Amino acid sequence: MTFADFVGNLRVVRVLERMLASERVPHALLFAGQKGVGKFTLATLFARALNCERKQGEICGACGNCRALGALDDLEGMKAAALKERGGANPETVPLLLRPHSSVTVLVPDGAYIRVSQMRAVVRQAYIQPAGARRNVFLIDEAERLRFDYADVLLKVLEEPPERTTLILVTAAPFELRATLRSRCIPLFFAPLCADEIESYLAAHRREWKAAERQLAAAAAAGSLGTALSLDLDRYRQMRAEALELVRTAVTRRLDPERLFAASAALAGKGGSAELDPGERRETLEFSLDLLYSLLADVLYLKTDTPELGLRHPDLRSELHGLSRQVGREWLGRAVGYLDRIEGWQRRNVNRQLALETWALGPAGPPAADR
Ligand SMILES: [Zn+2]
Repeated sequence: MTFADFVGNLRVVRVLERMLASERVPHALLFAGQKGVGKFTLATLFARALNCERKQGEICGACGNCRALGALDDLEGMKAAALKERGGANPETVPLLLRPHSSVTVLVPDGAYIRVSQMRAVVRQAYIQPAGARRNVFLIDEAERLRFDYADVLLKVLEEPPERTTLILVTAAPFELRATLRSRCIPLFFAPLCADEIESYLAAHRREWKAAERQLAAAAAAGSLGTALSLDLDRYRQMRAEALELVRTAVTRRLDPERLFAASAALAGKGGSAELDPGERRETLEFSLDLLYSLLADVLYLKTDTPELGLRHPDLRSELHGLSRQVGREWLGRAVGYLDRIEGWQRRNVNRQLALETWALGPAGPPAADR
């Protein structure tokens, strides 16, 4: 893979290419943007281009360094292998480091956090001259999970940057990083991809999908190529039908108790044959709430005649348009507000199914008032 194969965020790609061409490479970069837009992928391409043996700025794909760094395409596999190798050893004495090359190190969370031992290993390695490469590169994935109380360990490298070393912090939540770290990096913000970019990528890489399925996945992904690629289309369609049933009930007040019960059960993670564990149930509810929010957002776009802002459900346009004529903006505001509350209740022991049914039946109130 080279920069030319990278999808979206051309502006960021150009900035990196300019840095490579001028050989003015910063000591610390921050790659920020929502999940699934290619931040880590682009960071690995930058690491390759910095160290290609043919020429800085190229990714020949054939030299020893390019081949070694090709392992970064399978981060999960690298992590699993490193964990296996560590076995039962203490993570504070044997830090989790992914090293496809002696001069390229990747940090990923070890458990809930990136540990102090991992950060200390970066500091040690950063001051060693790169061997068999032009630069030491450190990629820190999910950097918002650096142990907050110890993250200043890394400050030394950022304040007195060793020559020929580059750190790239990759994060979907840049403002959860300590300001002391964030402010010492050059930030590059990644935008969500547009549906057309995702769709054309799917056309090349998911040829077995029908055109309508690719269109559905691209709209559902809301700018995240990673989400589009990992989407289970059947489940998505089924859950979306349940969410639409709830919205329909809330708007029209036409009640089919059995249908509503089945829909709310599925959305709360109670439907289906297999019993879900608490983590899976929480994930299902998050997925369901996201669907409900996105359906209401489409209703609002259609109500305010601004569908060009990006409908998540273009294939449901005519039904959602019909619903939009039965509610006012104030009603939509209340409906969204109550969803916010359900989201906030997640950590508490609240009956999720009942909360969803109440949402469909009650608090948003009869829509007629402010039509
Ligand atoms: Zn190369």
